Parts: sequence; structure tokens; C-alpha cells
Amino acid sequence: MLSSRHCKTNLYRLTFAELTEFLTAQGEKAYRARQIWHWMYEQRVNRFDAMTNLPGSTIAKLQASATLGSLDLVARQQSRDDTEKRLYRLHDGQFIESVLMPYDDDRMTACISSQAGCAMGCVFCATGQMGYARNLTAGEIFEQAMVFACELHARGERLSNVVFMGMGEPFHNYAASLAALRQLMDRLKIGARHITLSTVGLAPQIRRFADEGLQVSLAVSLHKTDDAQRSALMPVNRRWGIEALLDACRYYVSRTNRRITFEWAAIAGENDTAEEAHRLGLLLSGLLCHVNIIPLNTTGDYAGLPAQSASIKRFSDVLRGYGVSSTVRVRRGIDIDAGCGQLKTAVLGGKQNGKAAAATERARDGAAADDRLR
Ligand code: SAH
Ligand code: SF4
Repeated sequence: MLSSRHCKTNLYRLTFAELTEFLTAQGEKAYRARQIWHWMYEQRVNRFDAMTNLPGSTIAKLQASATLGSLDLVARQQSRDDTEKRLYRLHDGQFIESVLMPYDDDRMTACISSQAGCAMGCVFCATGQMGYARNLTAGEIFEQAMVFACELHARGERLSNVVFMGMGEPFHNYAASLAALRQLMDRLKIGARHITLSTVGLAPQIRRFADEGLQVSLAVSLHKTDDAQRSALMPVNRRWGIEALLDACRYYVSRTNRRITFEWAAIAGENDTAEEAHRLGLLLSGLLCHVNIIPLNTTGDYAGLPAQSASIKRFSDVLRGYGVSSTVRVRRGIDIDAGCGQLKTAVLGGKQNGKAAAATERARDGAAADDRLR
């Protein structure tokens, strides 16, 4: 059942022109749109009654017809390292997660979802294990960052970075992810270089992204250097193998002159050996790139364990020998299931039902079909 909140117009979903139209249709003066826009995105106020230069009658009208946001908070967890994770229910009952991660250098990074669930089926990933439900709209993606931006603003802080590393594959929802990305830049004034989009490796979309002319950072989840083994961990590799993926990455670097980041979820005994590090060094040597090593977060349906720090250090030393830089990312919020998809699994259970399994299959086929049409 829809709550009254969902029958109202969510102003975050409107462009400036649409906001103007929405207000004038209710008999308001057009200049109110500029005032309200300013309150929303400059002042980052998320209540109409805090918009102090609006007359009471306008505020009452807005309260009756509009909302600022539509995400229903279902659960939140705060970790010892101050990482905060949220689980939201969408208007149709789907669930998504977002995370806020403070870093010591004053960065405040929001990690946001691009889909409810994910069709890519990476075996180590809690979101992959739950299957695909649906694409998020640009508004639903943007709003996750907006919520954090407002809360931070209220306590004198600023949302500085956004990463598309929550639930879902942003390039499987390309148009909405790109639209949300532009809203982050235009409305929240987050610099392109402070936004990172992470992909499982959809090669055609990496090329398309390279052609957008954006300075946004790109991260590619690689995790393995051998096709058969990567396919076993990440089924998408059967469609776009490592060579096709790296070709697309080389194209991205040549088009943008930007360094590409490779994500490496370090799994004990699986991809943390010296031999694997040598293969990765050879594969990436000469490419403008960086490797982010993140010890695996254990998840329910995958038996793998995080690599130990000694093998991670050896791994990164070997890479250095090939001129490939790497950093070991601290696992944030490890005590609060802050890995992608893990809060939903903890709160609501992770298993998909038959309907979701069928949707996952359709979505995966659709991704391949989209590509064939290109
Ligand atoms: N779908 C995109 C972005 C979301 S996942 C992608 O796959 O890149 C964000 C990152 O988390 C990816 O690098 C993914 O491989 C990684 N990840 C997923 N599950 C993980 C786990 N259990 N432990 C460590 N990293 C994980
Ligand atoms: Fe999807 Fe990324 Fe998880 Fe793979 S790692 S299942 S692409 S969210």
C-alpha cells in the first residue's frame, strides 16, 4: 500500500524547470522556485518549515503536496570507526543500502546503490547472492547522497566524496547512474574527481563512459587474472573476458588520460599468492592504473576468507616490482556488516525467491542483448 508520502511530489526528483512549473501550477510565484532550490541544495535544509523566507501559506501548500525525499529508513548501524550504514525501503517495497564513511583527512564519503539487488551474481558478494530486483531511478540514486548531505550540513560538515559501490552494477543501469552522477555535480557541487564509479567490468559501457568526457574516477573490479577462475567468481567474465575488459580499460585511459583503479578483494589462498601478484603485475604493467586491495568481507553463501596482512603486503611488494602502485584499503565498518548488501542480508535475510531469480536471469540476458544491439 502506498503511504500518503508517496502520493506527494518528491521535489528532489524535479529539475529546476519542473519545480517552477509545479509551484506556478499551485498559484505560487515563479521566483519561489529559486528560493526553494537554494534551500534544498545550497542550504541543504530538508524541512519546508525551515525555509524561513517562505510565507506560511506556501509552506502549508508544500507540506500538503510535496516531500523532500522518499526513502524510508528501516535500519541503521554505526560502527566503531564511525562508518554509518543505512537500509532504506523504496516505495514499492524494495530495499537498498547506503553507507557514510568518515576519513581522518576530513573526507566524508557516501557509498550509494544503483540497483535493488544485482544481476551479476559475483559469488563472494552479498548483493550478488540476493539476485536482481530492479534498477533504481536517477532520483533514488541521487537521494541517497542528498540525505547524507543534509545531515552533514546540519552539523557543519560537508559531503565531499561519493562512490557508486553500494548495491548493484551502475553500468547495468547506465542512464540513471549517469544522470545521478550529473546531479551530484550540478546540485551538490561535488567535483567529478571526488566521485568514483565502480564496475564489475561491462566492457562496452566502460568505452561509452570514456566517451562522456567526464573527469569522474573509474574503478574496475578485477579480482582474478585467469579467465576460467575469474568466470567462476564473477559470471560476467564469460561475456567479457579479461582481454576484452583490459582493452576497454586501455581505451578509457587513452581517451581520458585518467588513472584507472582496479579493485582487488583479497581472498586467502584464492588470489593473494605471489604467483597471482606476478600475473597481475604483468597484466597491468605499463597501464596508467592503481590497485586497491581490500581484504574480503566474509558473506553467508561464500566460503572464502579474507587474505592475511602478510600475504597482502607480499602481494603489493610484487606489484611494485612491475611499476604497479597499490594501496591496502582499510575495511570500514567491518563490525556492522558494511560490505555491499550485507546489512539487508543481516536484517531481512539474503535469499532471493523464485521471482527474483527469474528477474536476475532476465536482467543478465538483457545486459547481453543490449550489448548485441550496439
Ligand atoms: N557492482 C559494482 C559496484 C558495487 S560492488 C562492482 O562490482 O564493482 C563494490 C565493490 O565491492 C566491488 O569491487 C566488489 O567486487 C566489492 N565486493 C563485493 N563483495 C565483496 C566482499 N564480500 N568483500 C570485499 N569486496 C567485495
Ligand atoms: Fe553486483 Fe558488484 Fe556485487 Fe558483483 S560485486 S554482484 S557486480 S554488486
